Amino acid sequence: MNLLKKRIEEVGDVVTDGVLRLDSILNHQVDPELIMAMGREFAVRFKDSAPTKVVTVESSGIPIAFATALELGVPLIFARRKKSVTMSEQVYEERVPSFTKGIVTDIMISTNYLNSEDRVLIIDDFIANGDAARGLVRIVAKAGAELVGIGIAVEKSFQQGGSSLREMGCRVESLAKIASLTNGKIVFD
Ligand code: 5GP
Repeated sequence: MNLLKKRIEEVGDVVTDGVLRLDSILNHQVDPELIMAMGREFAVRFKDSAPTKVVTVESSGIPIAFATALELGVPLIFARRKKSVTMSEQVYEERVPSFTKGIVTDIMISTNYLNSEDRVLIIDDFIANGDAARGLVRIVAKAGAELVGIGIAVEKSFQQGGSSLREMGCRVESLAKIASLTNGKIVFD
């Protein structure tokens, strides 16, 4: 997706050889026009698989997942990272390491919102090692729902997440693929 690549070139900040900061458009401040364009692009790519729910994990995946769900005309569910006092019901729960925070968190989705009739499209902002996406895939499986695909805004293809999910048989589509961040330079695939 050329628009996203252009914006990454303009504002992307290489923090280390493994981490790209996109705080001014995606991870802190949000660029609504860019996000809506990403939602439209994911909707075009996945419409044929007829998703009934879009699923992400809080927090940075939410805007893109929302835009995608709006375009597809289906609800968005965001997995919560820890149990909220308002969440008294039964949950599907998985433990996942967080790439950027360096901690392990529990992610959960209420059993009220995901069931065996659902066809799920997972959306997230970045994929690195794939732990967040694999956690969501396991939650979808626990619900007995069908996973129709995984849409990722930025895939860092020098890390193994995207390829490991494809090897598991998942359809993974990313809007921008980054081959390297070495020496502060963003190299697209
Ligand atoms: P994974 O679970 O695939 O290792 O990491 C994915 C999650 O970590 C994403 O949801 C994203 O929030 C965060 N993440 C991974 N790599 C990056 C990165 O290079 N930049 C930013 N801003 N977040 C990242």
